[in-house]
Amino acid sequence: MSVREDRLGAAAAESPRAALVGLVREPGRRADAEQSLAELEGLAHAAGADVVLRFLQERPRPDPATFLGSGKVELLRDACDETDVNLVIVDNELTPAQLRNLERETHQPVVDRTQLILDIFARRARTREGQLQVELAQLKYLMPRLVGASAALSRLGGGIGTRGPGETKLETDRRRIRHRISTIAKQIADVKRRRAQLRERRQEGFTPSVALVGYTNAGKTTLFNRLAGEASEASNALFVTLDPLIRAVRLAERQEILLSDTVGFIDRLPHGLVAAFRATLEEVTEADLLLHVVDVSNPEHDRHTEAVQRVLAEIDAQEVPALLILNKVDRLTSDEQLRLRATAPAAIFLSAQSGEGVDTLREAIVHRLSLETQRVTLEFDEGDESDRQRIARLYRHARVRSHQAAEGRVSIEVDVPRRLLGRLTPATAR
Ligand code: GDP
Ligand code: MG
Repeated sequence: MSVREDRLGAAAAESPRAALVGLVREPGRRADAEQSLAELEGLAHAAGADVVLRFLQERPRPDPATFLGSGKVELLRDACDETDVNLVIVDNELTPAQLRNLERETHQPVVDRTQLILDIFARRARTREGQLQVELAQLKYLMPRLVGASAALSRLGGGIGTRGPGETKLETDRRRIRHRISTIAKQIADVKRRRAQLRERRQEGFTPSVALVGYTNAGKTTLFNRLAGEASEASNALFVTLDPLIRAVRLAERQEILLSDTVGFIDRLPHGLVAAFRATLEEVTEADLLLHVVDVSNPEHDRHTEAVQRVLAEIDAQEVPALLILNKVDRLTSDEQLRLRATAPAAIFLSAQSGEGVDTLREAIVHRLSLETQRVTLEFDEGDESDRQRIARLYRHARVRSHQAAEGRVSIEVDVPRRLLGRLTPATAR
């Protein structure tokens, strides 16, 4: 390990002091640029950095060599020195040349938005597939940046933008990286196959799956914990949950779902990260029902809702039935609530924090998934193998009230979830 890596590792341990750098593309669009920097700040926090400096330059497009104009780069360097910045984060994707030049001119390690998000993914990935997908995206991102660049390599160590593939894999040449990429691709395929098998078993269990989706900070994890009745951490940080977390949740007698929490969606997900992100969202595409959680107290909530819908379309999940959940109503005045209810009559209003409205949500889930039970009496042929299997399934998935057997016939009175009626009915009844 080099001296430089040690230094960066030490800086990371005491959370880096970061400068955020962005462009104002048109004179009138300053507010947009500031909004974008605010989001970048949230990402920086999630990656463990403190933001001590914000730096915006008005220019229609980035300077091809140094991103900012040369005069501005000098100003940035001086400002960084004055405020003890030890990390520069740029709100765009940088070309390898821009990255190298900026590092040279500012005397600071520089990461771009993509690298920052990759770093967060790497911190949060818990499942094997999530980790592999993140490593794959990191390698693909680094590959073009390895051409004669000691800069890209020397940034590897312990700090932001340095987590992940690790120096042993990257001090090697592109050919070996390519080999690693194909190995990872094979491992991902293996993991996927195993997941598919798991999924089959789940389907055989007849338990419907419900996934929470929504913008970062909407309150998904808080709602997840409330429904799952367990107090695992909910935090303000973005991406606290990258890989889906799944719990079996009992809504009422014989009314169970598999509930999964998912990563927060963000706007402008860098293109190269879509696969890594998608891998973490497999539960969403496969779900029987989505709970789309929106923070209605956020003035940007319409934009967030649209961003989430766009992502759902990108991952082919727009056809999955969804309930719209307007969360954090405790922060609204009753006038604001009334107004919103008029515009979104189908939405469920609740506060995941206080619990207000959560019972209504439970009922809506039960109704939407047809988990309600119906009492029926079913006749089976004891000698028929598939009837015997149906009886076993009845005992597993429904509530048997009485069981009478006579002359090879079995008569069972049972409360069956409506959605399973067709699948549990004896052959002779159809
Ligand atoms: P996630 O990113 O969607 O998982 O959001 P979290 O569940 O981590 O919540 C983000 C922040 O919003 C946390 O600080 C929560 O305490 C807060 N929060 C969640 N639900 C509510 C709510 O109903 N009311 C209020 N006031 N805050 C909430
Ligand atoms: Mg969360």
